[in-house]
Amino acid sequence: MSMSFHVATRVAGLGPPASMELAQRVRQLRASGVPLIDMSTGDPDFATPPHIIEAAERALREGQTHYGPARGEPDLLEAIAERYAERGVGGIDPGRQVVVTPGGKQAVFETLLAILNPGDEVLIVSPCWLSYADMVRLCGGRPVYVSGDRDRGFRVTEEALEQHVEPRTRAVIVNSPCNPTATVWQRGDLDVIRRVALRHRLIVVSDETYDEIVFDGRRAVSMGAFTDLRDRLFLVNSFSKTYAMTGWRIGYVVGPPDLMDAVLRVQQNTATCTAVHVQRAALAALRGSQEPTRRMVDEYQYRRDLLRTRLADVQRLGCLPIEGTFYALLDVSAVAADSVSASRLFLEQAHVALTPGSAYGPGAEMLLRLSFAVGRQSLKEGLERIVSIAEG
Ligand code: PLP
Repeated sequence: MSMSFHVATRVAGLGPPASMELAQRVRQLRASGVPLIDMSTGDPDFATPPHIIEAAERALREGQTHYGPARGEPDLLEAIAERYAERGVGGIDPGRQVVVTPGGKQAVFETLLAILNPGDEVLIVSPCWLSYADMVRLCGGRPVYVSGDRDRGFRVTEEALEQHVEPRTRAVIVNSPCNPTATVWQRGDLDVIRRVALRHRLIVVSDETYDEIVFDGRRAVSMGAFTDLRDRLFLVNSFSKTYAMTGWRIGYVVGPPDLMDAVLRVQQNTATCTAVHVQRAALAALRGSQEPTRRMVDEYQYRRDLLRTRLADVQRLGCLPIEGTFYALLDVSAVAADSVSASRLFLEQAHVALTPGSAYGPGAEMLLRLSFAVGRQSLKEGLERIVSIAEG
């Protein structure tokens, strides 16, 4: 008789990601030869720009195949501080306030590990990226969703945040431009977070992963614009979306020097460092031409317009405003009972994969997330299939 070994409680307590069932079915359908259009992932369809690839190749040939400093390569740390200075967030000390991590996801996780004690609560503005809540749980904390106001692009009000602050509240996570809501918060919207954080001594984790992908001439405001938050603010960012580098696994976090020492200790004892040749590639991304990024953003905006035009007079599908990122939220309340059955309907009958909104926390139960980081042709074809089901 065999007895299985137990799984750690902190992992056993995690639910399966709400998008897992979808991913599994996508694989099955693909394997059986179904011409599927997958609009469920946040992975740009663009190739990484050639000068970035060349920088990594060069680094490998030059023998940069060893461990590097845990914090990151000094010139990359400097380039990151300069990037933020160009965005109006000056005065970042690259040697003490920046850590380069193997991905933005890892940056969020290392930050949470560095600041949370068991039982600490973290406010998460919802709907939100699906990893935050489970990462808080993995760190022994308790995620507390605060629903944004749908009529205002899911921006959160001060009252809503205040209602959820408890003695154990330690931090708040905000993400703008936001996955999945596609809204870009202005300074006044972010100021709501600032006021509550100052009033209750909360740490702020601002995930700015999509800060370059904004439309109609907008500019994303960094939470770092508020200098009075500097003793409690973490800025998380990534190369994944801006430079089409999802598979390279590189991101970073900027924060107050004393707290960043704790993040560094987490990294030293887990990842050791981010792969050095990948850091050379990231440096080339920051220091090289930004033209490839501009072209990608222009293309995303073109697709956003295409999508809105195509869906404009489809009565049974609402499309929420898209100010940035490469996601659209579709209101499917006229098509199915909830987002999970709507996702199943489109997958089984139209062979289009869209993520059920229920994966993104409270507020998105009747919505599906569509990623238009797929080629133009796939987008057009996918939209035709979606419309034919909605109108059928
Ligand atoms: N933050 C948000 C809001 C995201 O959507 C993602 C990826 O989908 C990330 C962070 C992390 O990206 P990566 O780990 O690839 O840097």
